[in-house]
Amino acid sequence: MADLDKVIHELVAANRILANEGVVDAYGHVSMRHPHDPSLFLLSCSRSPELVVPEDIMTFRFDGTTADGRKDNPYLERFIHCGAYEANPDVMAVVHSHALAVLPFSISSVPLVPVIHTGTHAGEHIPVWDSQDKFGDTSMLVQNVEQGRDLALTLGKNRVALMRGHGFTAVGRSLGEVLKISIYLPQNAQVYMDALRLGGTIKCVTPGEMAIRDEGGPGGRELGRALDYWAHRAGCSHYLHYGKK
Ligand SMILES: [Zn+2]
Repeated sequence: MADLDKVIHELVAANRILANEGVVDAYGHVSMRHPHDPSLFLLSCSRSPELVVPEDIMTFRFDGTTADGRKDNPYLERFIHCGAYEANPDVMAVVHSHALAVLPFSISSVPLVPVIHTGTHAGEHIPVWDSQDKFGDTSMLVQNVEQGRDLALTLGKNRVALMRGHGFTAVGRSLGEVLKISIYLPQNAQVYMDALRLGGTIKCVTPGEMAIRDEGGPGGRELGRALDYWAHRAGCSHYLHYGKK
């Protein structure tokens, strides 16, 4: 079970990192697919990410039920994660955030697109999921399997979906990749919004530039450098490097 322990500690580090970078606050969450059973995933009980410790990490099935017999209170929106893992076997980690900077693009007809080099991690196309389309008036949260599946359908093979008036969901082929996407997405949105306010012609990242930026894949040395930096800033390097001598 040594590598499960390591993965749980990395997931705790991811919670602390996202909180420290302002991507999540009291709300929002991050999960990982279970390293031993791809039909399960790991997610904290209902606790703010900055406060998550290894004992909080629970194991869930894709129907939102717990697979470890724990009775702790789960996140209401765990179905976001259920839908994303069920729909795409390549998804290894999921982030859900209410980051303010992306919200204007979730309610406007102006699509969020990559405009800065770090914004390319989110991919070329960022669809918007509107709970109103299929479910009418709701709490606007993703609180059941059907809503989670519908969100996953909108997400498709993209890396990010905005959620109208609510936030975003990002998926990654690794934990590091989904952190990178989630940390830079609000920054990209902020720069784009500032440029829109400036007026004039805006030059977005080109498809060719996107393709070159994507050549590194989901891992690599460059990502390790960022993970070390984010963990150091968040004071959680001991979780990120758990078990390493
Ligand atoms: Zn939410």
